[in-house]
Amino acid sequence: MTTSPNLTFNDGHTIPQLGYGVWQVEDDVAEKVVGQAFKAGFRHIDTAKIYGNEAGVGRAIASSGLAHDELFITTKLWNDDQGYDSTLAAFEASMERLGLDTLDLYLIHWQKPGAKSYVDTWRALIELQKQGKVKTIGVSNFTKEGLQEIIDATGVTPAIHQIELHPFFNQAELREFGAAHGILTQAWSPLGQGGELLKDKVVTDIAEKHNATSAQVVIAWHLAIGNVVIPKSVTESRIQENYASLDITLDAADVEAISGLDRGAEGRIGADPATADF
Ligand code: NAD
Repeated sequence: MTTSPNLTFNDGHTIPQLGYGVWQVEDDVAEKVVGQAFKAGFRHIDTAKIYGNEAGVGRAIASSGLAHDELFITTKLWNDDQGYDSTLAAFEASMERLGLDTLDLYLIHWQKPGAKSYVDTWRALIELQKQGKVKTIGVSNFTKEGLQEIIDATGVTPAIHQIELHPFFNQAELREFGAAHGILTQAWSPLGQGGELLKDKVVTDIAEKHNATSAQVVIAWHLAIGNVVIPKSVTESRIQENYASLDITLDAADVEAISGLDRGAEGRIGADPATADF
């Protein structure tokens, strides 16, 4: 079986480029589908406190027969827990639910610019990394200005930035900023949440050419442009199908055609990090 390539962070640790996300998956379902994802070959799991399924992910890890050093686990600090001391406490609670001693990647879930607590929150993540409790630290849903601000305030550059990113919203500017600063880009809702994108003729034609599915071609596009990518499915056959995207190699014209589907800000599905205030 093909295994996911690893990408190297600016702190020297590595991350499997293809992972499995569990947003909107109930805790008891998470245990089952994360087990299926491990069976399919995934070793990188993306959860968050707000998903309410860290315990289910933890049970799947415990019953997998896989050692933690074979796995890569991400969780995220929820917005209500921002601030220095509250972040340290929220981290311990997440670890308790996951049943882990150390975490591979901890992310600030949203910048939440209005709260003005993201710099203190980032300082807490730096402290957790110093203490060896988390290997790698990063952020999610930041603006370019927010990234620059936490770098300038602390001298520590996030290793990764997890953002909404799919062919209809390809985030060229933030990807360029990341590349220029040694920040990997990680794509959330990489399949555009399974909607119109997978029926787009450009995508279906390329899928036919490669004898693949639309989802596989979109995941292969993410891999080709250097994104870390975390598609979600709770259907075992699709979990396997998504992992098998690793076997598909797009040519330069395919990549360019899919990149050409970008709709700029019109393509955004989720909240705008510059204004999100929940
Ligand atoms: P996604 O783009 O991965 O789409 C998932 C949906 O696509 C599935 O529910 C299903 O309907 C469809 N799908 C999946 N595989 C398919 C296949 N092979 N064929 C046909 N349809 C298929 O959407 P997502 O769940 O929003 O994003 C993925 C992950 O990103 C999440 O689970 C979560 O881990 C992460 N995420 C993070 C944030 C954040 O704020 N940091 C926000 C949203 C999602």
